[in-house]
Amino acid sequence: MSRTCTTEIGCPARSGAGVARGGLQATVGLVLVMGMMLPNPAQAAATIIRAARLLDVASGQVAEGMDILVEGNRIREVGRGLVMPPDAVSIDLGDVTVLPGLIDAHTHVCLEPEDEIRVPVLHKTDAARAIAAMAAAQRDLWAGFTTLRDLDNEGADMADLAVRDAVRRGVFTGPRLFVAGWAISITGGHMNLTGLQPSVDRRLTQLALMVDGPQAMVAAIRDQAKAGVDLIKIYATGALRNVDRGTLDAMPQFSRDEMRLMVEEAARWRLDVAAHAYGGRGALDAVAAGVRSIEHGMFLDDATLDLMASKGTFWCPTMTAYLPGPDDAPDDRAFHERIVQRHRETFRRAMKKGVKIAFGTDAGSFAHGDNRRELQRMVDYGMSPIDVLRSATLTGAALLRREHDLGRIAPGYLADIIAVAGRPDRDIAALRAITFIMADGTIVRQPGADR
Ligand SMILES: [Zn+2]
Repeated sequence: MSRTCTTEIGCPARSGAGVARGGLQATVGLVLVMGMMLPNPAQAAATIIRAARLLDVASGQVAEGMDILVEGNRIREVGRGLVMPPDAVSIDLGDVTVLPGLIDAHTHVCLEPEDEIRVPVLHKTDAARAIAAMAAAQRDLWAGFTTLRDLDNEGADMADLAVRDAVRRGVFTGPRLFVAGWAISITGGHMNLTGLQPSVDRRLTQLALMVDGPQAMVAAIRDQAKAGVDLIKIYATGALRNVDRGTLDAMPQFSRDEMRLMVEEAARWRLDVAAHAYGGRGALDAVAAGVRSIEHGMFLDDATLDLMASKGTFWCPTMTAYLPGPDDAPDDRAFHERIVQRHRETFRRAMKKGVKIAFGTDAGSFAHGDNRRELQRMVDYGMSPIDVLRSATLTGAALLRREHDLGRIAPGYLADIIAVAGRPDRDIAALRAITFIMADGTIVRQPGADR
């Protein structure tokens, strides 16, 4: 699969590295997980989780022999030798390290890798995509990601909100979702179908809202807010097909004033704006306009990174999604190799400058459940394992303005807890073997229960 295919649907890139899963397989996966839903002692009463080691991601310290008391969906107490409340259940996880459930700050549960080949808005019903999205969300959860910031539904009309709400209501077990609904782009820009006969194209559902001019931008944000999204996603620069292959300049899609207008309108509804931006003027203008985060950003220059550091703008690099695909034509492969090299170099500069880096994968452009590949990539590019874990817990929580109850194992925090054999603060590969997952107080995976 080539990331520069003519349709250019979906987020930026398709890695092609994952095995496409969808349709029947996704449904089977969903049934398996639902069928394996375990008794939920934590919601029935209180649970004490005992483990050999507890990793405090904030301090980086590992404490031995700690107990975690969970009541309902909250952590009530953390300490040694906690007294069991009379109605509590105890779970001894043994020789494992417990740590907070991870946050993936850039996913697309409504997207599967196969959607690059057959544009989903033309080939799948929204109902089918919603069901597949439930299974995708569960695969991400099964990989240890108890919270997802889902950055647009790729044209599956509000299916992301439906999945979020179904999890909230307990219809099925899944990760906590913060969703962007429809992304906002421009006519001819990213997510606009291309290569079709124009009169046909104009009648089709697109993969995002195409808005041109201030009035349409404000109307799109009000429409999204009314539908109940958690944040707004805009395409501040175009797609990879809009990147100049000579200079690597990314095409700006909105002016600084337009983005300021959208940020202000979103703020009226208490919504933050996430901006897809590869680099160049579009990225700089997005940061200056006050977006909460820059997504991808492989070509971010020093001026933009400095402004991000001083304004506290988050960066979600999603580097794995831009790896060359196995079937790339030689030109595409060379292009992607340059992107990878720039991404790595930008990542290192951003770390030095103190830019807040939130872990995010773009899962959906590669297989859901493979999110941890990005954890390893960040380590490979020079971030320490504990800082990668902070990026996927504390920084993700701060990005979501939920640092008071997400991303830590501490009293008052939501009970999102995972356990792994080994020491993930020393070797990030330990996260390949997750033995226990509690999401919002519900045990969704425990030792001996393999999927
Ligand atoms: Zn994306």
